[in-house]
Amino acid sequence: MEYTCILCPRGCHLTAEWATDEKGEKTVKVSGNFCPRGIKYATEEMTMPMRTVTTSLYVDGGEEKMVSAKTADTVPKEKIAMVLSQARSVRATAPLAVGDVLVENIAGTGVNLVATRKVRKA
Ligand code: SF4
Repeated sequence: MEYTCILCPRGCHLTAEWATDEKGEKTVKVSGNFCPRGIKYATEEMTMPMRTVTTSLYVDGGEEKMVSAKTADTVPKEKIAMVLSQARSVRATAPLAVGDVLVENIAGTGVNLVATRKVRKA
């Protein structure tokens, strides 16, 4: 598989493929990386891709009708739809500050959904 590493502006073009090590265990072989972070990135993309999810929630009692939000850490790519679905079902209440937890452990990921914008009370 081919990937572009997104961990820094250098944007290394990575090639990752399954290989077997000397113990006969399956492993991911990565090339094209300028630093070790690229190996971790490509290996994760091959085995369990993770993403930060951004979305918006409705706000009750605020000067704004919506607040932007994101997961406080990356979540498995396969859980993105569940994260967005749960976020759609939740309403936040003003006032809100950046970093306020809007949903704890969203979609059972162990990651909180947090506000990325301040919303004053109306
Ligand atoms: S492999 Fe290292 S240098 Fe290359 S883009 Fe990723 S983080 Fe940057």
